[in-house]
Amino acid sequence: MEAILKSTTDPSDLLNISDASLPYHFDQIFSAEGFGAKRLAKNRLKLIQEIDPVVQAMLGEGERVQLVSWGVEYSFVEQVFMGIWSHLINRCALVFTDRRILIVQINSRRKAMSLKTQVRYECIEGFAKRTFGYLGFVMRNKKTLYITGIPRKDRKAIKEMINRRIQTGASNAIGFGFGAGVENLCPQCGNKVVGFPDRCKQCASAFKSGRKAGLLSLAFPGLGDFYLGHRGLGAFEIIGGLLSWTFIVLPLAYGTWQGESDWTLTALVAAGVFLFVHVTDFWITRRIGFKGIYPAD
Ligand SMILES: [Zn+2]
Repeated sequence: MEAILKSTTDPSDLLNISDASLPYHFDQIFSAEGFGAKRLAKNRLKLIQEIDPVVQAMLGEGERVQLVSWGVEYSFVEQVFMGIWSHLINRCALVFTDRRILIVQINSRRKAMSLKTQVRYECIEGFAKRTFGYLGFVMRNKKTLYITGIPRKDRKAIKEMINRRIQTGASNAIGFGFGAGVENLCPQCGNKVVGFPDRCKQCASAFKSGRKAGLLSLAFPGLGDFYLGHRGLGAFEIIGGLLSWTFIVLPLAYGTWQGESDWTLTALVAAGVFLFVHVTDFWITRRIGFKGIYPAD
């Protein structure tokens, strides 16, 4: 049955499949209609084909997928400090099952990357108001998860689906703490991970350390990003770091060596480069390192 999912290029081929072994409600997943629906369905099919093994590994017993969409997790701070690069790290597949939203980090070719998180419907209180093209999930811990770039048709369907759950009381938060919001999952076995341990309690696979990622980037910009598996970003920052030292500090150091300029200026500028380039990257890399659980191998 999985062979059909893999080989098909036409979403409508999947509508008549009623195999319980495939955990997808294809009739709901491909239910969008109207202008642009065809292209949307094709993109959706490609995404499902890419992430299917990961999704199947994460799903619980009897859990089924009702809607699959995509977007970019929005963080103001990351947008300011990383610009376009924040999109590369925060692009995600949104898998709405009958129990929760599975959020899988993906790259630009829709391939699943390290980070996997979940939001249980019980943890959603409602939606943020006045969001232009964003969807803001307001959670019980009073935090809001902002996702941008979700196709318009999907935004509407998602809001309707979750509001229906909230109104019918299907997601009464009995037994859920006030702290509940986005929860990290083990990237290997999908088990919920509390805090940032070294290993998974369930499958014992090792995790990377956000602290180490930060310190590596403090040593030299980009190293921590490489460690976390964000190679493009890492390479970009290493080049930036090298350029800063080569074209700002090195000429001054050469001048000092030749006896043409005072060493204090050189030292100050070197400290400035360290502060603005290294310390900034330390801070932002550490933040990215603590975004979720990265597998160590
Ligand atoms: Zn695990």
